[in-house]
Amino acid sequence: MSEEKSDSKIVRGPADWRGSVQVTRSFLPELDDYVARLREVWETGQLTNHGPLVTRLEEQLRDYLDVEHLYAICNGTVALQIAIEALEFRGDVITTPFSYVATTSSLVWQHCRPVFADIDRETMAIDPAAIEAAITPETTGILATHVYGFPCDIDAIGAVAEKHGLKVIYDAAHCFGARFRGRGMMRYGDAAISSFHATKVFHCGEGGAVTVSDPELAERVAYMRNFGHKGREDFYGIGINGKLSELHAAMGLAVFEHVGEIIAARRIVVEDYWRRLDGVDGVRILQPGPEVDWNYAYLPVILPDESAVETVRDRLAEENIYPRRYFFPPLHRLPGLEPGPSLPVAEEMAGRVMCLPVFPGIEESVVEKVAAEVARVVAC
Ligand SMILES: *Cc1c(COP(=O)(O)O)cnc(C)c1O
Repeated sequence: MSEEKSDSKIVRGPADWRGSVQVTRSFLPELDDYVARLREVWETGQLTNHGPLVTRLEEQLRDYLDVEHLYAICNGTVALQIAIEALEFRGDVITTPFSYVATTSSLVWQHCRPVFADIDRETMAIDPAAIEAAITPETTGILATHVYGFPCDIDAIGAVAEKHGLKVIYDAAHCFGARFRGRGMMRYGDAAISSFHATKVFHCGEGGAVTVSDPELAERVAYMRNFGHKGREDFYGIGINGKLSELHAAMGLAVFEHVGEIIAARRIVVEDYWRRLDGVDGVRILQPGPEVDWNYAYLPVILPDESAVETVRDRLAEENIYPRRYFFPPLHRLPGLEPGPSLPVAEEMAGRVMCLPVFPGIEESVVEKVAAEVARVVAC
C-alpha cells in the first residue's frame, strides 16, 4: 500500500491537518493548476452567470456521469430543492430516515412533509415495501438516497412509483463516478442530484448538480436555477439563484482531472481496511453489490451495539482520529419535525454504524490503528 501511494501524485493536502485525522480530507489540486483556470476567469472577466468554465465543466461531467442533461448548481442542497420544485412535489413526500440531514431539510424548506419509511437492514437503503405501506392519497413523490454510493433497490422503487403514479428523486450525493449495471448511477429516477462539496469524492469547494433525462423537465430545472429568467426581460416562472460561479467551476475543472487517481487511491485505502477487518467477529463491513462499479466513497462498518461505537469514537479521539457516525441521528428524530412513528431498523442501525477515515494519502499507520481499535473494542 505505501509503495503504491508514494507512486501516486495524490498526497497533496496540507501536510499538517492541525495534527488530526478526520473522516475525510479535501483533495487539493496543484495550486498552479487552479491558478491557470483562474487566469481564464480574469481573461473573460466573467465571474458567474453560466460562463465558459461552468459550461465546460458541465460538458465534462455529463459525459463522465453518463447522463442526458446536467445542470451545475451552487450546492447539493439547493440542487435538491430545485429537483423537488421542478417535479412539483407538494404535501407528503416519502423519504429515508438514513441519509445526510439535507435530504430531509430540503423537503421541509420546500414546505413538503417528510414521511419516513424504514430502511433495509442489509443495504441501509429505504425499503420499497415500507415505501408502499406509507403511500396515501396525500403522497406526491419519493425522495431516496443511494447511501454510501450503493444503489437503492431501484427496480422495486421504480415499480412502486409506477403503480402509484409517483415520481422519484434520487439523492446521489455519494455516487460520483459510480455505476450500476454499466450505467451512471445518476441516470436512474426522474431526477437525481449530486453534491460537489469539499468533502465529496469530486468537489468544487461548494457545488452540486441536478441531472434529468426528460427534456421538458430539463428546461424547468434550467430556468429555475436562474431566477426563472427567459432572456433579460421575460420570465418562464418563479426560480431561485442556484448558479455555480466560474470561480467554483475553476476548482471543479482542476479537481476533475484527477478523479481517476482519487478513486484509485481511495480504493487502495478501502481494500486495506477490508483486509484488516475481514473475519473480525462482530464487525460487519458494508460493501457494494455485484452489479455496482463503486467509487470507494466511504468505509461504513456496523458494530454490535451503540456502546461499541461510542467506545471506538472516544478511544480514537484520544489519538486525534475522528471517524464519523454517518448517519446519526436518524432523520425522523430531528428536532423541529412533528413526532412520527418509530422506525426500528433505522434507529438500531443508525446507532451501530460508523464511517472510518478514508481519503487519498491517509497514512497506512492510521488505517492500522483504526482497524486495530475497532477489532479490540468488539472483542471485549
Ligand atoms: C453532502 C450531501 C448533501 C448536501 O450537499 P451540499 O453540497 O453540502 O449542500 C445532500 N445529501 C447527501 C446524502 C449528502 O451526503
